[in-house]
Amino acid sequence: MTIKQRYAAVIERFAETMPSPQTELHYDTPFHLLLAVILSAQCTDKRVNIVTPALFEAFPTPESLAAVTPDDVFPYIRSVSYPNNKAKSLVGAARTIVERFNGQLPSDIDSLMEIPGVGRKTANVMLAVIFNRAAMAVDTHVFRVSERIGLTTGSKNPLQTERTLVRHIPDADIPRAHHWLILHGRYVCKARRPDCLNCVISDICRYFSKNSPKETQQ
Ligand code: SF4
Repeated sequence: MTIKQRYAAVIERFAETMPSPQTELHYDTPFHLLLAVILSAQCTDKRVNIVTPALFEAFPTPESLAAVTPDDVFPYIRSVSYPNNKAKSLVGAARTIVERFNGQLPSDIDSLMEIPGVGRKTANVMLAVIFNRAAMAVDTHVFRVSERIGLTTGSKNPLQTERTLVRHIPDADIPRAHHWLILHGRYVCKARRPDCLNCVISDICRYFSKNSPKETQQ
Protein backbone atom coordinates (compact mmCIF):
# COMPACT_ATOMS: atom_id res chain seq x y z
CA MET A 1 0.00 0.00 0.00
CA THR A 2 1.45 3.41 -0.95
CA ILE A 3 1.29 6.34 1.44
CA LYS A 4 -1.22 8.01 -0.86
CA GLN A 5 -3.46 4.93 -0.84
CA ARG A 6 -3.22 4.66 2.95
CA TYR A 7 -4.28 8.27 3.47
CA ALA A 8 -7.17 7.92 1.02
CA ALA A 9 -8.35 4.70 2.64
CA VAL A 10 -8.15 6.06 6.20
CA ILE A 11 -10.05 9.22 5.25
CA GLU A 12 -12.73 7.26 3.44
CA ARG A 13 -13.18 4.83 6.34
CA PHE A 14 -13.37 7.50 9.05
CA ALA A 15 -15.73 9.57 6.90
CA GLU A 16 -18.06 6.56 6.82
CA THR A 17 -17.79 5.66 10.50
CA MET A 18 -17.49 9.17 12.05
CA PRO A 19 -19.16 11.56 9.57
CA SER A 20 -19.48 14.49 11.99
CA PRO A 21 -16.87 14.21 14.73
CA GLN A 22 -16.93 16.99 17.33
CA THR A 23 -14.77 18.18 20.18
CA GLU A 24 -15.85 16.62 23.46
CA LEU A 25 -15.28 19.89 25.31
CA HIS A 26 -18.50 21.75 26.10
CA TYR A 27 -18.66 25.42 25.13
CA ASP A 28 -21.11 28.08 24.05
CA THR A 29 -18.88 30.80 22.55
CA PRO A 30 -15.45 30.86 20.85
CA PHE A 31 -14.01 32.59 23.93
CA HIS A 32 -15.31 29.86 26.18
CA LEU A 33 -13.89 27.17 23.90
CA LEU A 34 -10.51 28.85 24.27
CA LEU A 35 -10.82 28.71 28.06
CA ALA A 36 -11.83 25.03 27.91
CA VAL A 37 -8.93 24.13 25.61
CA ILE A 38 -6.44 25.91 27.91
CA LEU A 39 -7.89 24.01 30.87
CA SER A 40 -7.70 20.68 29.02
CA ALA A 41 -3.89 20.64 28.87
CA GLN A 42 -2.79 17.51 30.74
CA CYS A 43 -6.35 17.07 32.02
CA THR A 44 -9.33 15.07 30.75
CA ASP A 45 -12.14 16.71 28.80
CA LYS A 46 -14.54 15.09 31.25
CA ARG A 47 -12.96 16.88 34.21
CA VAL A 48 -12.88 20.18 32.31
CA ASN A 49 -16.58 19.83 31.43
CA ILE A 50 -17.38 19.51 35.13
CA VAL A 51 -15.84 22.88 36.05
CA THR A 52 -16.67 25.00 33.00
CA PRO A 53 -20.44 25.61 33.48
CA ALA A 54 -19.86 27.66 36.66
CA LEU A 55 -16.75 29.30 35.18
CA PHE A 56 -18.62 30.32 32.03
CA GLU A 57 -21.54 31.66 34.01
CA ALA A 58 -19.26 33.75 36.23
CA PHE A 59 -17.17 35.05 33.31
CA PRO A 60 -19.33 35.27 30.19
CA THR A 61 -17.01 37.61 28.24
CA PRO A 62 -13.30 38.42 27.92
CA GLU A 63 -14.00 41.74 29.65
CA SER A 64 -15.53 40.10 32.71
CA LEU A 65 -12.57 37.74 33.12
CA ALA A 66 -10.01 40.45 32.40
CA ALA A 67 -11.38 42.45 35.34
CA VAL A 68 -10.54 39.86 38.02
CA THR A 69 -7.39 38.27 39.41
CA PRO A 70 -6.16 34.66 39.15
CA ASP A 71 -7.08 34.23 42.82
CA ASP A 72 -10.69 35.00 41.90
CA VAL A 73 -10.64 32.31 39.20
CA PHE A 74 -8.84 29.62 41.19
CA PRO A 75 -11.92 28.38 43.14
CA TYR A 76 -13.73 27.62 39.88
CA ILE A 77 -10.93 25.47 38.48
CA ARG A 78 -9.29 24.02 41.57
CA SER A 79 -10.07 20.42 40.54
CA VAL A 80 -8.31 20.54 37.16
CA SER A 81 -4.58 19.89 36.82
CA TYR A 82 -2.22 22.82 37.50
CA PRO A 83 -4.98 25.20 38.68
CA ASN A 84 -2.61 27.98 39.77
CA ASN A 85 -0.88 28.25 36.42
CA LYS A 86 -4.12 27.83 34.51
CA ALA A 87 -5.87 30.56 36.54
CA LYS A 88 -3.05 32.91 35.54
CA SER A 89 -3.32 31.82 31.90
CA LEU A 90 -7.09 32.32 31.78
CA VAL A 91 -6.92 35.85 33.18
CA GLY A 92 -3.89 36.64 31.03
CA ALA A 93 -5.71 35.35 27.95
CA ALA A 94 -8.77 37.48 28.67
CA ARG A 95 -6.65 40.60 29.26
CA THR A 96 -4.68 40.05 26.05
CA ILE A 97 -7.86 39.56 24.03
CA VAL A 98 -9.33 42.76 25.47
CA GLU A 99 -6.20 44.90 25.28
CA ARG A 100 -4.55 43.62 22.10
CA PHE A 101 -7.47 42.35 20.04
CA ASN A 102 -10.39 44.61 20.96
CA GLY A 103 -12.22 41.86 22.77
CA GLN A 104 -12.33 39.62 19.67
CA LEU A 105 -10.60 36.29 19.24
CA PRO A 106 -7.97 36.66 16.49
CA SER A 107 -8.16 34.26 13.55
CA ASP A 108 -4.51 33.79 12.63
CA ILE A 109 -2.05 31.47 14.29
CA ASP A 110 0.61 34.05 15.15
CA SER A 111 -1.87 36.33 16.94
CA LEU A 112 -3.49 33.39 18.73
CA MET A 113 -0.08 32.28 19.98
CA GLU A 114 0.48 35.70 21.57
CA ILE A 115 -2.29 34.83 24.04
CA PRO A 116 -1.04 33.45 27.39
CA GLY A 117 -1.62 29.72 27.71
CA VAL A 118 -1.99 29.28 23.94
CA GLY A 119 0.65 27.21 22.19
CA ARG A 120 0.63 25.90 18.65
CA LYS A 121 -1.69 23.00 19.48
CA THR A 122 -4.33 25.19 21.14
CA ALA A 123 -4.10 27.77 18.36
CA ASN A 124 -4.68 25.05 15.75
CA VAL A 125 -7.68 23.71 17.68
CA MET A 126 -9.22 27.18 17.64
CA LEU A 127 -8.50 27.67 13.93
CA ALA A 128 -10.04 24.30 13.03
CA VAL A 129 -13.06 24.30 15.34
CA ILE A 130 -14.06 27.98 15.34
CA PHE A 131 -12.77 29.20 11.99
CA ASN A 132 -13.00 25.89 10.08
CA ARG A 133 -9.44 26.32 8.79
CA ALA A 134 -7.20 23.58 7.49
CA ALA A 135 -5.24 23.49 10.76
CA MET A 136 -4.10 20.24 12.35
CA ALA A 137 -3.62 20.27 16.11
CA VAL A 138 -1.29 17.45 17.11
CA ASP A 139 -1.73 16.22 20.66
CA THR A 140 -0.39 13.01 22.17
CA HIS A 141 -3.21 10.95 20.57
CA VAL A 142 -2.75 12.37 17.07
CA PHE A 143 1.02 11.93 17.32
CA ARG A 144 0.81 8.28 18.43
CA VAL A 145 -2.06 7.17 16.19
CA SER A 146 -0.58 8.76 13.05
CA GLU A 147 2.61 6.80 13.56
CA ARG A 148 0.86 3.51 14.29
CA ILE A 149 -1.47 3.72 11.34
CA GLY A 150 1.41 4.62 9.04
CA LEU A 151 0.37 8.18 8.20
CA THR A 152 3.78 9.29 9.51
CA THR A 153 7.04 7.39 9.66
CA GLY A 154 9.57 8.06 12.40
CA SER A 155 8.13 11.47 13.21
CA LYS A 156 10.29 13.13 15.84
CA ASN A 157 7.93 15.77 17.21
CA PRO A 158 4.37 17.13 16.92
CA LEU A 159 5.35 19.82 14.42
CA GLN A 160 6.79 17.23 12.04
CA THR A 161 3.61 15.17 12.37
CA GLU A 162 1.47 18.27 11.76
CA ARG A 163 3.37 19.11 8.58
CA THR A 164 3.17 15.58 7.23
CA LEU A 165 -0.57 15.28 7.92
CA VAL A 166 -1.34 18.69 6.41
CA ARG A 167 0.67 17.81 3.29
CA HIS A 168 -1.30 14.62 2.67
CA ILE A 169 -4.84 15.35 3.85
CA PRO A 170 -7.07 17.51 1.63
CA ASP A 171 -7.76 20.90 3.24
CA ALA A 172 -11.48 20.26 3.46
CA ASP A 173 -10.91 17.10 5.52
CA ILE A 174 -8.32 18.46 7.95
CA PRO A 175 -10.69 19.80 10.66
CA ARG A 176 -12.52 16.46 10.70
CA ALA A 177 -9.28 14.47 10.55
CA HIS A 178 -8.07 16.18 13.72
CA HIS A 179 -11.13 14.89 15.59
CA TRP A 180 -10.98 11.46 13.94
CA LEU A 181 -7.44 10.86 15.12
CA ILE A 182 -8.04 12.21 18.63
CA LEU A 183 -11.21 10.19 19.17
CA HIS A 184 -9.66 7.08 17.66
CA GLY A 185 -6.67 7.43 19.96
CA ARG A 186 -8.80 8.13 23.00
CA TYR A 187 -11.22 5.23 22.65
CA VAL A 188 -9.72 2.58 20.33
CA CYS A 189 -6.05 3.00 19.53
CA LYS A 190 -5.13 3.62 23.17
CA ALA A 191 -1.56 4.23 24.24
CA ARG A 192 -0.96 1.07 26.24
CA ARG A 193 -3.44 -1.32 24.67
CA PRO A 194 -4.75 -0.62 21.19
CA ASP A 195 -8.05 -2.43 20.64
CA CYS A 196 -7.12 -3.72 17.20
CA LEU A 197 -9.80 -6.40 17.10
CA ASN A 198 -12.49 -3.71 17.27
CA CYS A 199 -10.77 -1.19 15.04
CA VAL A 200 -12.46 -0.05 11.84
CA ILE A 201 -9.16 0.62 10.07
CA SER A 202 -7.21 -2.49 11.06
CA ASP A 203 -7.03 -3.69 7.44
CA ILE A 204 -5.24 -0.48 6.44
CA CYS A 205 -3.10 0.00 9.56
CA ARG A 206 0.66 -0.47 9.34
CA TYR A 207 0.98 -1.50 13.00
CA PHE A 208 -1.72 -4.14 12.60
CA SER A 209 -0.15 -5.57 9.50
CA LYS A 210 3.07 -6.10 11.46
CA ASN A 211 1.56 -7.45 14.70
CA SER A 212 -0.79 -10.36 15.17
CA PRO A 213 -4.18 -9.56 16.74
CA LYS A 214 -3.25 -11.82 19.63
CA GLU A 215 -0.14 -9.81 20.46
CA THR A 216 -1.93 -6.47 20.26
CA GLN A 217 -4.48 -7.58 22.86
CA GLN A 218 -1.98 -8.73 25.54
S1 SF4 B 1 -5.36 -1.62 14.14
FE1 SF4 B 1 -4.67 -1.31 16.24
S2 SF4 B 1 -2.82 -0.07 16.07
FE2 SF4 B 1 -3.92 0.09 14.11
S3 SF4 B 1 -5.17 1.95 14.31
FE3 SF4 B 1 -6.42 0.18 14.91
S4 SF4 B 1 -6.21 0.07 17.14
FE4 SF4 B 1 -4.52 1.34 16.37
